[in-house]
Amino acid sequence: MTNNKLSQRLTTVLKYIPKDCIFADIGSDHAYLPIHAIKTRAVKGVIAGEVADGPFEAAKQNVKEHLLQHVIEVRKGDGLTVVKDSEVDCITIAGMGGPLIASILEAGKEKLLSVERLILQPNVAAQIVRKWLMSNGWQLVAEEILEEDGHIYEVLVADKGNPYVPYNDTEKELLFGPYLLQQNNSVFRKKWQREYTNWRQILKQISKGTETSEIKRKRAELTEYINWYLEVFANENSERS
Ligand code: SAM
Repeated sequence: MTNNKLSQRLTTVLKYIPKDCIFADIGSDHAYLPIHAIKTRAVKGVIAGEVADGPFEAAKQNVKEHLLQHVIEVRKGDGLTVVKDSEVDCITIAGMGGPLIASILEAGKEKLLSVERLILQPNVAAQIVRKWLMSNGWQLVAEEILEEDGHIYEVLVADKGNPYVPYNDTEKELLFGPYLLQQNNSVFRKKWQREYTNWRQILKQISKGTETSEIKRKRAELTEYINWYLEVFANENSERS
């Protein structure tokens, strides 16, 4: 990624930032997303939050080079501590694991009172983010899956409102993503084919070891995931066999 060309992953996040909003980008690193948002999305202002020294300095430097200090404020701090009450109406958190994203949202719940939209891009374990959204009154309104440089990314968009009520199997939809399940595109199929292969390998490995309660739990979980995979991709699997 360079200053001039935003990655496809961040371009997908950018697409969902509402026009005219003030948003906070948590874990902003080089502040690429805030800079592109100001230049292309007509947002009013951005707070770029960073916890680590190097990325914080890089963000400040980039914002300065683009002469955008009047609209992008770079602040150093952990998660949503950098945001003041009622300061922003949208939050983006991209490029972190699902558990870290969920813990940042959980720790900063009071800062979400003024927020109408969350755009979250977990690198792994998106189901933990979906679960947090569902338990905290956020309505999942869109999901995207994309592949870039050999990695597969998911982007989740949630608006304040009634929590998403899955109409089928809750845990299964949290894992696969309700919208992604419906779209069932080639990247989605590729991701879950990889996971399926991985689950089967782990299952084979742990079946060789001593049976502890943890192994029993893991085996039950993997078996459930494998069965869900086979249900979701039943047609493709029967076509292949
Ligand atoms: N958001 C950018 C993107 O998607 O390209 C950067 C992603 S980078 C992999 C993750 C960034 O989040 C790092 O710069 C890291 O320092 C920052 N980070 C991790 N935990 C954080 C936290 N609790 N609060 C703020 N920033 C955090």
